[in-house]
Formats: sequence, C-alpha cells, structure tokens
Amino acid sequence: MKKLKLFLGAALVSMSLSVFGQSVTSPNGRLSVNIFLTEDGVPMYNVEYDDVTLVSKSALGLNTSVGDFSKGLSTDKVSDVVSVSDSYTLANSKKKNFSFTANERTFSFSKGKDKAFDVTFHVDDNNVAFRYYVKPQGDRLSCIVNSELTSYVMPNGTTTFLCPQMVPQTGFARTTPSYETFYEYDAEMGKNGNGHGFTFPALFKVKSVSRHLPTKSDKRRTSKVTEKTYWVMLCETGVDGNYCASRLMCDGNRYTVAYPEDTEFGGVGTSSPAIMLPGYTPWRTITVGETLAPISETSIMWDMVKPKYEASQKYKYGRATWSWIIRMDASCNYNEQKEYIDFAATMGYEYVLIDALWDTQIGYDKMEQLVAYAKSKNVDVYLWYNSNGYWNDAPQGPRGKMHRLLERRQEMAWLKKVGVKGLKIDFIGSDKQVTMQMYEDILVDANDFGLEIIYHGCTLPRGWERMYPNFISCEAVRASENLSFGQHDNDIEALAATIHPVLRNAVGNMDFGGSALNKYYSKDNKHGKKRITSDVYALATAILFQTPVQNFAVAPNNLQDAPDWAIDFMKRVPTTWNDMRFIDGYPGKFVLLSRQSTDGKWYLAGVNAMAEPMKATLDLSMFDAGQTVRLYLNGKVTEVKVNKKKTLPVVIPSNGGVVVM
Ligand code: CA
Repeated sequence: MKKLKLFLGAALVSMSLSVFGQSVTSPNGRLSVNIFLTEDGVPMYNVEYDDVTLVSKSALGLNTSVGDFSKGLSTDKVSDVVSVSDSYTLANSKKKNFSFTANERTFSFSKGKDKAFDVTFHVDDNNVAFRYYVKPQGDRLSCIVNSELTSYVMPNGTTTFLCPQMVPQTGFARTTPSYETFYEYDAEMGKNGNGHGFTFPALFKVKSVSRHLPTKSDKRRTSKVTEKTYWVMLCETGVDGNYCASRLMCDGNRYTVAYPEDTEFGGVGTSSPAIMLPGYTPWRTITVGETLAPISETSIMWDMVKPKYEASQKYKYGRATWSWIIRMDASCNYNEQKEYIDFAATMGYEYVLIDALWDTQIGYDKMEQLVAYAKSKNVDVYLWYNSNGYWNDAPQGPRGKMHRLLERRQEMAWLKKVGVKGLKIDFIGSDKQVTMQMYEDILVDANDFGLEIIYHGCTLPRGWERMYPNFISCEAVRASENLSFGQHDNDIEALAATIHPVLRNAVGNMDFGGSALNKYYSKDNKHGKKRITSDVYALATAILFQTPVQNFAVAPNNLQDAPDWAIDFMKRVPTTWNDMRFIDGYPGKFVLLSRQSTDGKWYLAGVNAMAEPMKATLDLSMFDAGQTVRLYLNGKVTEVKVNKKKTLPVVIPSNGGVVVM
C-alpha cells in the first residue's frame, strides 16, 4: 500500500509539473504547500502535513479593477526557496520571546503579456502564510480589489469550530458586526453561518483515515484502519488601513475569503479594498497541528508583521477595576467611581476603567478631580469613548470625539493634560478599509499622547500587538457583558472558556472582562443574572483569558462576600507573560493551559465545561519535584508537594476550574 501511495504521489507531482507544480516545505520537512495551475490558468495550492492533505486543492487569485487575475493566468517564474528567520520580543502579548525559521518561495503569474501578481508562501513547521503582490498594469498605479478567490477546500469528514459572522447594522443600535456570536462545536461543514459566513479565526478538525492491507504475517488477514486527527486554524494578519479585514463564506466544504458587506458601517465606505500598485494584500494564515498546542501557541500573527512606529513611552500594563460590568451605566458617577478607585487601591490594581456616560454623569471638570484622586491612590485611569460617528445609533457619550482627526487630537490633548492613561473605544462594528484606517489612525494619535487603546464592540486584531506598541486589546468575542445581560450566557459560560484560550486568544489579545466573584450580576449581589461557575473557575479564567490590561469583573463587595483565597489570588494575578504552553483540551469540553508570568512564576489553569466532573492527571513538568505548589480546587486552596513524576491527579467539577501556582 505504501508503495502504491508513493507511486500515486509521484504521478500527481509529475502531472502537475507539466503545468507548474512546485512546492515549499517547512524546515522540518513535515508541512508542505504545493502550487498548481489548472488548464484554465487558475492558480491553486494545497497543504499537506506528513503526506496527509489538510487543505485540498484550492484556488488562488484576485479580481481587480485593472484585470481579472482569477483565471487565464500563466506561470511566469518561481523563486528559489529562501530560508528566513527572525526573533523579537513583545511586552503586550501571550509570550515575551518570539522566534521563527521558515522557508519562503515566490510564485509569479502573468496574464497575457503583462505580469499579474506574485504569491509568496511562508512555511514554518506549523504555519503557512501567503500574500499577493499585485503588479502595476501599464500606467495604472492603483486598483480596487473587487474580490479575492483565495479559498480553503477542507477534506471530507472535517468538522468545524466556527463563529458566525454577525448581520451588519443589527444588534444594539446598529453596531454589528462585532464578532459576538456563539461558536458551534464539532459542527459539520456546509452551513454558511447565519448566511453571512464566519469570522476569523476559524478552527477545523480534519480526520485522516488510512487503511493498511493485511500482511502475510497477519494470520487473521484483516485490514487495519487507523484514524488520526489534525487541527487547522485559518486567520489573516497584517491588516491595517491599506486593506479591509475579511471573513469566510462557506459553500459545501469550500471556505472562501470574503470582503466586508456593503451595509457595514452604515453603508459608508466601499466593501472592496483599494491598493497602490505595486501593492500587497494582507497575509492569509493556516496553522496546523496534531494537537491544539501549535494552534494555541502560534506566533504567525506577529511573525509576519513589523512595528509601524516607536512607542512614545514605556506603556504600563496591569489590572483594572470596572464598575460597569456589575452596576451598569448608572454607576458611572463620581461617588461610585471613587469607590472603585479605592477598591482598585485595596486590590493593588494599576487601573480603574470608567465606562460610558461619564461625560454627562461626572462631567469633564469633575473628571479632572477624579483622575487626580485616583493618582493620589496610585491608580491610573482608563476612560470609555463611543467611537461614532455617523454609522450607528449608540447613544452613550462621549460621542463624536474619536472618529475625526481634529476632535480626536483636541480630546487626546485634554486627556494627556489630565493624566488619563488609556481609552476603551466602543461600537466600531465594521471590517471595511475605511474602518481599518480609523482603527489605525486612533492608535497612531493615541501614541502621540501616551494613551493605550482597548477596542470594544469591534473587529479582531490582526497582528496589532506588534504593529502598534500602544495597542492593548480588542473585545471581538462574546464577552462578559452578555453574562450581565442574559441567563443563557451564564448557563453555558464554561463552554466558551474551553475554546477562547486555544482559538480567539491564540491570534490576539482579548478584552473579555471576566472573573466575576459575585453570585449575581448586580450591585446588591442578590438579583440579576446568576453565575453558575465556581470561584476557582473565576480564578482560572484570569489566567486562561489573556490581555495585558485586564478589566476584571470583581466588585468592592467581594472584599466581604468572596472567599479570602479568591481575593488574595485576584490581588496577585499577573497580566503579562514570558511564555505559555497548551497542555490538553477539546473545545466545548475542557481546557488545560499554563502561563509563565514575567516574574518567572508558572500558573497552570483549567476549566471543565462537561456535565460530569472530569478526572485529569495534571502535568506539573514546569515545576520542580519536591517544590510546594498551591492548588486551587473544589472551593479551597491547599499546598501540595510536587511528586517525582511531576503529576497531580485531580477531579475538576462541572462548570468549575483548577489552578496550580
Ligand atoms: Ca460588546
């Protein structure tokens, strides 16, 4: 059988060689991309890992205003394989030290006598990234990219873990799409979300079945079937004002890159991006692994981009108290914010986040006093802003301060003068190029005024941790506010916590705003939506959900009504990390992951979303044998000595968690 497979493989290669047929293989030789050209002149590629096809033959190409580069193409030239490597550090991401070695190869295509585009493939041991470089056409030095043909045909039997794209201009005050729908777990292919496709990042489980014919020595003469599972994550990176962000449309088992919808952003701005020529499109990324570790730990989002400007200063990270999540809009008044500043000081937190309506409920003058008061308590201030604008109806103020350069810079000058350190900017539901430009412009201006930026009700960051040094995070997830709004989100809270650390958080910082210790989402902690997860779960998600500035949902009353060990943990929990390791997990069931903080301490955290308690043997290899570690489990903390095998058997309750530190 093996021989037959080799022969078939060779036949395929030689057949494709006649039309094009070249490959790029990863440094370790296991991951490869093969490029083909069909008889109709359509460029295609596939992705193989250990000879198992993870992405079947799929189209490449662009349809632009200066030419249809999706068919009728001919091959121009193929570069040599070039080895590229880089190392860099990030202070605001899931790890500190990043490095990669990859092989790159560029394939050039022409249409007629004119050069159309190059596609460069970058292949490391677990990641593929590729992008187009569109050539000038005669004297045409710019173009609109009407559509992109890039697709991902997934092998039969693949199941999906996808987040449906939201319908534009729906939801609260026409603020969508903002990446806030529920994931489906292990769903069959073929559904196109709610008719509008899916958001990045997208996760697929590919099954490979191989049959081994009986050998002569096998007396029973039965053929053996082995089934292996591979994980594939699709995303994109390096998206800025030079392009739009994209989503995936599904047709059967083919997922195709799609641009934003016309109706996004109130219909303002084009859905198709425009670029200067010659010019690049963003990087499309494919991350693969036999386990979820290469997905969860990937650095491809940052490997492919470069910082776009210098940080104007050293930005400070940390924890914030945040009244809005428990007490909502009414709490954004002077006295309650003072209470939350005092609470932040008691917790030893670096920040307080003052949310919507402060402009009218506190006012600009009193805000100056409040920021000064916070400073006297060694607490810095983040202020909330409404992004709009003319593309939605969100009424909360301050409004109209962030979308235009003049008002924005005037406002930021005041913020700097007063001593505000960061902004949380809400309601920017669009992926159009005009919106990407606004995301970038706000970050650039904010850096001039020493402001950190959190985006909320927004798109997914695509390499932004490295591109913009004052970027903190994006929401782009069905986040904690929904726990305050609806019971259903609480009932399935743990489910989402099993996927975010391996998928959403794999590609970018995530402003979730979780770790509530209240039993109920209300000021008196007696009414409102009921939290069904445990207190250890709250601690575990403080580790599992990563962003360098965490707006925690803890409340002042928790100093009295939450267990001392939980408050003590939340006082000490770090938000910046040297390193991380995915340990085990299955989206929709459980996750176990460890992170090493920038002071060198390891934290292992896990949650169980299954209906039954889960037996697990924790891998404590990041600790020393004989070392005493603290185990948070079953509503208490105990000290445990690490055994020689560095393992620890535990039973994690349903809707509960575990933390070892
Ligand atoms: Ca939101």
